[in-house]
Amino acid sequence: MDRYEQALRDHVRPRDWRNPKPREPYHLLVVGAGPAGLVAARAAAALGARVALIERDLLGGDCLNHGCVPSKALIRSARLYADMRNALNFGVREPANIEVDFAMAMQRMRRVRARISRVDSAAQLADAGIDVFFGVARFTGRTAVDVDGTELRFKKAMIATGSRPLLPAIAGLAEAGFLTNETVFDLTVLPKSLLVIGGGPLGCELAQAFARFGSRVAIAHAEPLFLPKEERDAAQMVSAALSRDGVEVHLNARVVCVRVEDGKRCVETVNDGNVTTIKVDQILTGIGRAPMIEGLGLEAAGVACDELAGIHVDDFLRTSNPRIYAAGDVCLEHKFTHSADAAARIVVRNALFLGRQRVSDLVIPWCTYTDPEIAHVGMYVRQARERGIPVKTFTVPMHDVDRAIADGEEEGFVKIHVREGTDKILGATIVARHAGDMINAITLALVAGIGLSTFARTIHTYPTQAEAIKQAADAYTRTRLTPWIARLLRFWVRK
Ligand SMILES: Cc1cc2nc3c(=O)[nH]c(=O)nc-3n(C[C@H](O)[C@H](O)[C@H](O)COP(=O)(O)OP(=O)(O)OC[C@H]3O[C@@H](n4cnc5c(N)ncnc54)[C@H](O)[C@@H]3O)c2cc1C
Repeated sequence: MDRYEQALRDHVRPRDWRNPKPREPYHLLVVGAGPAGLVAARAAAALGARVALIERDLLGGDCLNHGCVPSKALIRSARLYADMRNALNFGVREPANIEVDFAMAMQRMRRVRARISRVDSAAQLADAGIDVFFGVARFTGRTAVDVDGTELRFKKAMIATGSRPLLPAIAGLAEAGFLTNETVFDLTVLPKSLLVIGGGPLGCELAQAFARFGSRVAIAHAEPLFLPKEERDAAQMVSAALSRDGVEVHLNARVVCVRVEDGKRCVETVNDGNVTTIKVDQILTGIGRAPMIEGLGLEAAGVACDELAGIHVDDFLRTSNPRIYAAGDVCLEHKFTHSADAAARIVVRNALFLGRQRVSDLVIPWCTYTDPEIAHVGMYVRQARERGIPVKTFTVPMHDVDRAIADGEEEGFVKIHVREGTDKILGATIVARHAGDMINAITLALVAGIGLSTFARTIHTYPTQAEAIKQAADAYTRTRLTPWIARLLRFWVRK
């Protein structure tokens, strides 16, 4: 508990906080104060609604406390170490002794987190007119919630209780002990060796970061490629990047058991019948997320759910109880902060203002923050084919982009899929050091119905890595030059 941790707590769980006297009934009662809950509560209060926000742990939820914010802060420090080791490539002599100070990197992460937590502070929410209740919420009926013995009544409610780490059923794992995203950011000493179980975004991001800090990292993933959702070439680049950073990659490897020997965790994996034993100091699991539905009294509220999908919602995010809505990880397939945010805004409109906004209309991009980053929006080729849509893909490798060459960041590509014969963008995958930033332009195009040819007509600042998108658009424009038009142009020029 250093001063940064204390500052965080002062914002997101003040020691001397007293829950307000309930005003009743609330126009909107929100359970869970992660990104979804905070956005809905703020938006509803700003529009004049009487709002209650209930949080059992820390305001800000996973994103601020155990997810996006701490992971991205750590990834930044790890990238700096990687860049320093590569300094000679840029004409800078590598410092004689690059010393990783993991404790300081973790302290920086706590400083960053404390700073960002200001906007989520209980005091600010109260100033915005929101009644903030700390305690565990449990529905006691179709219009009432109990918070540690206090009953709150509502006209409309939104469940935004998020998700928790899915724990793998591996013999001996619980006895041996392991880290999850809820505990890994509490480390102050760098594990000498670490096995990451799971090659999704969390596993890949943290495996690379810890390897760059100097941990001997292995990663075991049960499938043949990391990031199973992504296109093969993108996923292969992640494998190559991890290997280059010294991560021992075990693909198609199922972890079957763990035992402790001489203070080390010995993990057995099976690949094609071959058993491998990996000896490590720590294990981090990141095999996926499970919706947080336990103990919510959903039966009493008449809200249908299941353990896999979480709370059942319709396209308007309404549950089986028409007074109760849900948003965020607890009900969405795409478990991201920005989708939780967008869904919460839909709930406010639909629940309080007779809106008819559909969650299926959202265009949701995403990004895995490895180095290089992998970002995607819209359809994959296989999805377009499943729907019988003919696809043409325009790909520009980053090694053809001047700024990427100048930056020494040539790894990756921009790949844009259009409906064949048109410039209608169906989807895109970008692998680049700043792919997460670059994908936003394509997302805007998808939302606004802007075709790929507009990128060709748009002047991009030179030199920037985003020019790769324009280069893909130029490639599309060239396909419009039919032999007949080319002949006509040649004739015109020679005239
Ligand atoms: C390591 C990691 C890195 C990530 N990085 C990114 C990223 O870079 N970008 C991105 O977009 N997403 C990222 N995510 C995902 C992102 O954190 C989640 O999608 C987001 O936090 C979901 O928001 P939410 O509001 O639905 O739920 P949460 O953030 O989980 O918040 C739910 C809140 O509800 C509270 N709660 C639960 N039950 C009760 C109850 N009964 N009573 C009262 N309160 C309750 C919880 O305590 C919690 O505070 C990451 C996740 C992890 C784990």
